[in-house]
Amino acid sequence: MPSLSIAIVGAGIGGLTAALTFARQGHSVTLIERRTGFSEVGAGLQLSPNASRVLIRLGLAPALRRVASVPERVVVRGIASGRSIGEVALGTYMQQRYGAPYWVVHRADLQTILLDAVRSEASVRIATGRKVEEVRNAPERAEVVWTSSNGARESLAADVVVGADGVWSKVRHAVGDTNRPTFHGYVAWRATVERRLVPEELAENETGLWLGAKGHVVHYPIFSGNLVNVVAIERAKAPVDGWSAPGRAEDLLAHYSSATPVLRELLGRPREWLRWSLFRHPIRKLARGRIALLGDAAHPVLPFLAQGAALAIEDAATLGALLADGPQDVAEALAAYEQHRFERVTRIQAEGRRNGRIYHSGAIVAFGRDRIMQWIGPESMSNRYDWIYGFRAPE
Ligand SMILES: Cc1cc2nc3c(=O)[nH]c(=O)nc-3n(C[C@H](O)[C@H](O)[C@H](O)COP(=O)(O)OP(=O)(O)OC[C@H]3O[C@@H](n4cnc5c(N)ncnc54)[C@H](O)[C@@H]3O)c2cc1C
Repeated sequence: MPSLSIAIVGAGIGGLTAALTFARQGHSVTLIERRTGFSEVGAGLQLSPNASRVLIRLGLAPALRRVASVPERVVVRGIASGRSIGEVALGTYMQQRYGAPYWVVHRADLQTILLDAVRSEASVRIATGRKVEEVRNAPERAEVVWTSSNGARESLAADVVVGADGVWSKVRHAVGDTNRPTFHGYVAWRATVERRLVPEELAENETGLWLGAKGHVVHYPIFSGNLVNVVAIERAKAPVDGWSAPGRAEDLLAHYSSATPVLRELLGRPREWLRWSLFRHPIRKLARGRIALLGDAAHPVLPFLAQGAALAIEDAATLGALLADGPQDVAEALAAYEQHRFERVTRIQAEGRRNGRIYHSGAIVAFGRDRIMQWIGPESMSNRYDWIYGFRAPE
């Protein structure tokens, strides 16, 4: 089958999934990444069935099963009261209902598994230490221009260019989206703790979700169950820089001063906290001519629905399916990609914002929220998101 040359900018979760998908279809791929190596950065990522299904189809299930955890449920509690508010069924229930698991993994584990698979594909060239500066559309080929780590300026022409370069995308401009993401007023704190150091009642094979008016906390086992990933959301006036700004435990504990003792104990355990800021950028454009965007480059999502990595993976699978036939009308295929993704991503972005409001609601609304959660029950709490978890990329 005739194949395409595809340049992907950014080797995050989205770029790596896209590279693997395209290579399996016989396309020739250049993956351009600004970092010089793939060191361990980040902590937990949730892979709901809509994403795990794609990764399984790419043959990654055996490797992922070795490192992923499968929490049986989400236990929702009040931050101040410590009381259980409700549950969401995960584990066995999700596997049976959606035919794919709800995995939680360390970001570095997922990145390593994807990278190993990509490296075993002869048709993928990985070019690290290249910072893409500009991408240009042309009727016959698109062009990517980058600066190498030695300062040299180089370029490459390809049939298709995919911008998978994250929230501060350089490629976004080239599809006609000139807006910049805006700070959403929250900073996320992340840490990992050895599971044996976690208070016993929080060390079960389940996800903990703690709700309060000043923020919320999520924790779940990762790293084959040996570590617990903890993320605490804090309202903040100003953003912090990058993905890994250091944070002081005293400041986090002061923010959560009224939290129930067992949660304060958990928050006091990590030796190191790292912070990143939450940005909003409503999806506007996904493609123009021979250039397409995927993942956070097109539509960063708030982590209140745990769909950031999942959407990037879905994007990659959808784009792969629409380019599977090779060099037909590429611009038409990319326009179809935009059409396939736009409504779904818009809805998920909106649902994430809504979840934030529900999680952080004040006492009166929280009272009603808690009653409804108890009344709905664990399985119906999952089923509300059939439209998210039941997604299947076009074949
Ligand atoms: C360092 C890091 C740590 C993270 N940690 C967490 C975490 O702990 N928890 C969580 O929920 N999410 C985390 N995320 C976000 C999460 O990975 C993404 O939201 C999600 O997986 C979607 O991924 P993506 O591939 O679209 O974008 P990203 O994961 O952001 O990947 C974008 C890639 O593009 C590269 N890039 C950017 N600009 C250029 C350029 N000009 N030229 C070449 N390459 C470029 C970046 O180096 C990066 O590798 C992290 C992201 C990063 C980059």
